Amino acid sequence: MRRLALIGNWKMYTTPSSARFLAEDILNRLNGVKEADIVVCPPSTSLVSVADIVNGSDIVLGAQNVHWEREGAFTGEISIDALVEIGCRYVIVGHSERRHIFGESDEVVAKRLRRALESGLKGILCVGEKEDERQRGETEKVISRQMDTALEGLKRTELIVAYEPVWAIGTGRRAEIRDVEAVHRFIRKRLSERFGKDASGNPVIYGGSVMPDDMAELAACEEVDGALVGGASLSAESFASIVTRAIERRIA
Ligand code: PEP
Repeated sequence: MRRLALIGNWKMYTTPSSARFLAEDILNRLNGVKEADIVVCPPSTSLVSVADIVNGSDIVLGAQNVHWEREGAFTGEISIDALVEIGCRYVIVGHSERRHIFGESDEVVAKRLRRALESGLKGILCVGEKEDERQRGETEKVISRQMDTALEGLKRTELIVAYEPVWAIGTGRRAEIRDVEAVHRFIRKRLSERFGKDASGNPVIYGGSVMPDDMAELAACEEVDGALVGGASLSAESFASIVTRAIERRIA
């Protein structure tokens, strides 16, 4: 069975001091939990303060972005060497807020992912359709395009794919479990077409308005290897509850 991954995306919430407080609360609740990979992704301005709290614990640090060049004249961007030095082990790429608010193309997402993987970080590749694309029956077409571009030329890598239907992110409208199951099965098929049987270990997780009460149903689904959690990861209590419910359901 693939390992569970529960990832908190703090987006542009928290300052260094409030992030520290949140990280301490999460650590107090979840340190010692070995049955899942538990990752927190604070904004870049809070990475250092959260690293002070979680590095060396069972809570792992992730970043929300990385640039593809090692360094250079790229105002506002984040370098891989900085992330490695801080102690990040994961990086989110292709989040719908990056794609649709900041206009990141599939090609840019691919370059960011490649840099992360080449430098030994694990990539969390977000894919997902917009609402009008779903209504037009284009979900698989969109996800194929996003995955094909991001994975072009890659060997089997340390990669998590997060299925995040855009219309479910931050809206309180979680996708129906049968739709999640169908899309995850499709993503897994695409992963194995590209990487062969090696892809069987790559987690495919769901993101989009996940709350503690959703997690048992999601984790009961064989195709769901965890969750990428936005809003509910900003409360240590609800994030810990999501982690606990996922683990309980998996081992039940
Ligand atoms: C996300 O930020 O990736 C996300 C899924 O957010 P939310 O859980 O708030 O929908």
